[in-house]
Amino acid sequence: MKKHHRHGALMRYASILGFGDIRIKIDPKTGLHAIIAIHSNDLGPAIGGCRCYPYASTGEATKDVLRLAYMMTLKAAVCKLPHGGAKAVIIKPRKIKDERAFFESFGDFVNQAEGRYITACDVGTSTTEMNIIAESTPYVIGATSHNKKQSNPAQHTALGVLRGIQATVKHKLKRDDLEKIKINIQGLGQVGYELARLLTTRGAIITATDTKIATLEQCRDELGINIAGIDEIYDIPSDVFAPCALGGTINPNTLKRIQTSIIAGSANNQLSHSKCIQLIEKKDILYAPDYVVNAGGLINAAIVYDYNDPDRATAKINELYETTLELCERAANSTESIIDITRKIALDRIKQGSNNNKTINSTIEEVN
Ligand code: NAD
Repeated sequence: MKKHHRHGALMRYASILGFGDIRIKIDPKTGLHAIIAIHSNDLGPAIGGCRCYPYASTGEATKDVLRLAYMMTLKAAVCKLPHGGAKAVIIKPRKIKDERAFFESFGDFVNQAEGRYITACDVGTSTTEMNIIAESTPYVIGATSHNKKQSNPAQHTALGVLRGIQATVKHKLKRDDLEKIKINIQGLGQVGYELARLLTTRGAIITATDTKIATLEQCRDELGINIAGIDEIYDIPSDVFAPCALGGTINPNTLKRIQTSIIAGSANNQLSHSKCIQLIEKKDILYAPDYVVNAGGLINAAIVYDYNDPDRATAKINELYETTLELCERAANSTESIIDITRKIALDRIKQGSNNNKTINSTIEEVN
């Protein structure tokens, strides 16, 4: 009975978010149990990573795929990409008997959507899996065996975060450069490290933390940054606080401690609850919506897939400066929060796209 309730609640959630197409594949031969959730094709073929994770239940996997696919739609729309949003999740079994057969089966599943869904790397999948998937479908990004111009998304994400930070610094601090701007980075992983590198070359003063001591020490030695404890980072005053580790680190407790002018970083779902934006604005902190400033990886993947042109992709990532600046300006002249404004812009763009005569089919043809 409880299961029914849960299923019903999830389907209501999907319907409220406006989902169009949710597919399930169970393949007893390979042990594949996967869900593809295509949120929207209004602006074009939907792009979204394939997460392979040992979810505790189908309900948990469904909730994750719905939430992530919806965010991909908003992200693609706000960045003016000719793409919709989607996501795939694979409920990772304890043991995959035959990796090749398992991911080929997933590739067939992707192919059945006939280009409405384009898959990519995400948590638990890498170019290795994408190369196998590409044997069964052309609708895949990140298969280096098929396209040598695809590259690790983290460096592109870091460039986008840099451009977002530059825009917020321009708006809030009226500065065109980052010289001596104090930036606290939470997480020195693939994106955080590259961001720290880009910022130090522009004269910013970086204080960073990470759970891995060796990473911290290496970054201190290589980049000349200051290092801080995991909890201590919240108490060190800064101009910009950049969450680049996990989601949910901006919450009522940490907001009591964070002394900064701007929050802008790569982590997905930085705010523990959407209502945190009210606390942020009350503290006169400017918040750069996470799915906007962390869109560099998606932009690169989409443009290289569509046009096979990395330079064009870099130019499009640089546009995140103007996109972020425009959001800051609109929020400053509005009673609505920057989060609400961003979502409305994205949804308006999708609405225009669905009214447009250029249908999904013509966009698919263009992409191919
Ligand atoms: P990553 O796993 O390479 O790096 C995360 C780092 O955070 C690790 O070094 C880890 O040790 C550290 N960390 C974990 N918990 C921490 C804590 N409590 N305090 C401080 N550090 C902690 O991941 P990544 O690819 O660099 O991504 C970072 C974030 O950006 C993630 O939230 C990810 O979802 C998001 N993101 C990444 C990309 C991309 O292109 N990689 C794109 C969009 C969004």
